[in-house]
Amino acid sequence: METENLFSYEYAQELDALDPLKKFKEEFYTKEDTYYMDGNSLGLMSKRAEKTLLASLNDWKEHGIDGWMSGSQPWFYISEKLGEKTAPLIGAKKEEVIVTGSITVNIHQLIATFFKPGGKRTKILADELTFPSDIYALKSQLELKGLSPEEHLVQVKSEDGMTLSEEKIVDAMTDDIALVLLPSVMYRSGQLLDIPYLTEEAHKRGIIIGFDLAHSIGALPHSLHEAGVDFAMWCNYKYLNSGPGSVGGLFVHERHLGKAPGLAGWFSSQKDKQFDMDHTLSPAATAGAFQIGTPHVLSCAPLLGSLELFEEAGIHSLRQKSLKLTRYMMDLIQHELSDEGFTISNPTENSKRGGHVCLQHHEAARICKALKQKNVIPDFRAPNIIRLAPIAFYTSYEDVWKTVQILKEIMKEQTYLQFENKREVVA
Ligand SMILES: *Cc1c(COP(=O)(O)O)cnc(C)c1O
Repeated sequence: METENLFSYEYAQELDALDPLKKFKEEFYTKEDTYYMDGNSLGLMSKRAEKTLLASLNDWKEHGIDGWMSGSQPWFYISEKLGEKTAPLIGAKKEEVIVTGSITVNIHQLIATFFKPGGKRTKILADELTFPSDIYALKSQLELKGLSPEEHLVQVKSEDGMTLSEEKIVDAMTDDIALVLLPSVMYRSGQLLDIPYLTEEAHKRGIIIGFDLAHSIGALPHSLHEAGVDFAMWCNYKYLNSGPGSVGGLFVHERHLGKAPGLAGWFSSQKDKQFDMDHTLSPAATAGAFQIGTPHVLSCAPLLGSLELFEEAGIHSLRQKSLKLTRYMMDLIQHELSDEGFTISNPTENSKRGGHVCLQHHEAARICKALKQKNVIPDFRAPNIIRLAPIAFYTSYEDVWKTVQILKEIMKEQTYLQFENKREVVA
């Protein structure tokens, strides 16, 4: 490094010049002078994702019904194919992964499959900070079994309202708990939980454990198979850049394969038996058994192209860059904005954080509006959180530097005061 001043624009440019992943930015539709820091909510579109989506449209145009078995990617096998291509991102065997459903639907499927209350074990353990949809799904699954959520859903408390103590989670794994569902990375604070440790502790106590990987898949590597995690689910529209409402995915550990799905449908079938049209289901011997109906082909197709990019860049390199980007952002914020009332609320150790920076500020809602006016795209989470996610594929160090400069300008000039401190309908 030539530059002495680690907070200068020149230093950001030097970091970019040395970035082994910088060529990937061209693969994405980024905009000049726009700083997209929201790839943890909806990843940007890549040229590859566009290409595979257009190829599947063309297959429909060219082949009609025969697109199920011919064309660029036969639709009948698209979910399995995508599962195989996703497996390296989560440390899974190909038969343990299937691309299907959405996070919430997959929680329903996997809880319906794995939650078997019996004897003393009738409760589900979750946490009080997780995403609401996960909790709604758990409560409705309990109700379907005739169990009251008030009594049978245990939510581990957070001491600081932002993070969870892993020891407290383990303490809550009592002998009335049948199943645990936790996020891998907390959607607000970005805290990364220790999946292998929590899995080992749950299994010591005879408890089934699953993880929601919404905020970790595509941001960091996982070792689900080796850790022995029972099941997991995720979406593909956040760090996986596969488009709004793109189809999600799920993992079921090898030792559970062959289990009948809690929610069955004809796509749960063994592929060669599916068209026998038998009224007795023969479930697939892979994670494919946890599909329900016909795959949403056009919402799967962008993932084919997107996963090519992950294959080329490698998830370990992406994680290294992501850690550097977020570290750089935190350093700049501390240096430039130390007296503006921001608190960095994500854990700062590398082993304890995901891919975004979490800032708390009592004017967060309108600071986000002022950022958007200046072409910085953040994400606001009520009541007072600004999430900023520099994405390894398409965010440069220069983008991070400019984002922090813009934030500084907004604070110094108080331009945020012209907006109402209230969230939008979608925030
Ligand atoms: C994004 C997200 C969801 C959204 O669920 P969908 O079913 O895909 O709408 C659920 N849970 C968590 C933890 C999330 O981050």
